[in-house]
Amino acid sequence: MNRRTFISASVGAATLASAQHILAESTRTPLVISTWDHGLPANSEALRILHNGGSVLDAVERGVMVVESDPNNLSVGLGGLPDRDGIVTLDASIMTGDCRAGSVCFVQGITHPISLARMVMERTPHVMLVGSGAERFAREQGITQQPNSLTRQARVAWEEWCKEKNYSPVINIENHDTIGLLAMDNAGAMAGACTTSGLAYKIHGRVGDSPIIGAGLYVDNEVGAATCTGLGETVLRTLASFLAVERMRIGDHPQAACEAAIKRIVSKHSNYREFQVGILAIDAAGRHGAFSIQKGFTYAVQDNLKEAAYYVK
Ligand code: ASP
Repeated sequence: MNRRTFISASVGAATLASAQHILAESTRTPLVISTWDHGLPANSEALRILHNGGSVLDAVERGVMVVESDPNNLSVGLGGLPDRDGIVTLDASIMTGDCRAGSVCFVQGITHPISLARMVMERTPHVMLVGSGAERFAREQGITQQPNSLTRQARVAWEEWCKEKNYSPVINIENHDTIGLLAMDNAGAMAGACTTSGLAYKIHGRVGDSPIIGAGLYVDNEVGAATCTGLGETVLRTLASFLAVERMRIGDHPQAACEAAIKRIVSKHSNYREFQVGILAIDAAGRHGAFSIQKGFTYAVQDNLKEAAYYVK
């Protein structure tokens, strides 16, 4: 049975400069880290793949597929909350530490957008496919496109939203849950995956940070990897995952790199108290870090000793 350590650290934008952080260092590989509570089952699956001799790329894909498959998850996969027109559109990206990347955005009816992103990476000369083009590519690859239907839970929530149709694209702790998952194998190879239904009740066609390489996800075996969750527009403006990796490249610990990325977002958005962004990072030494603007960001860490650290900030 896994031993879970529950640690809490109080942060928040107002106290960014002086926040005390409790770090759980891990130099034991394989290492898997991912966002939010659903990170726990995703990490377990990723680690299982690695223990069974799968590649780190298999591990990150299969890990997030657990969450994509969950019909009760309102922010990842086909169970996600729809856009303002009642249509679920999905974004996903995948990247390996040798700078290969694939992503899809604004896709409908695809059960596992992360697998489609991987196919873009491995079976095309491109990095990103969008909308109907990505869906056509999926069909060509033998993926069955599901009819556009909402889960009961998502429909009820959307119908409730329709009563007011109050479009305020602010992400608070109840309104987001992208899964971003980073992993490193015993040889130090890294990969990452990020998949989401994006901002609930967004304008049809809106794409967030999750499928944009450098924004929602970035991986470089020489340095480390980072992934983000939260209000995607703010992450897009700052390329926060890329920024965190580049901070590690010049010597930052992953924790310092995450803090630098969040500080950049805060410094560029005077309304930072109104939204949430969380970021995770790992480095080539197997250390990890996490930071967020607001309290309430949770994430899961799991390593070779099956010790899961589940942080609550
Ligand atoms: N980052 C995602 C987006 O803006 C939302 C999330 O983290 O749930 O689409």
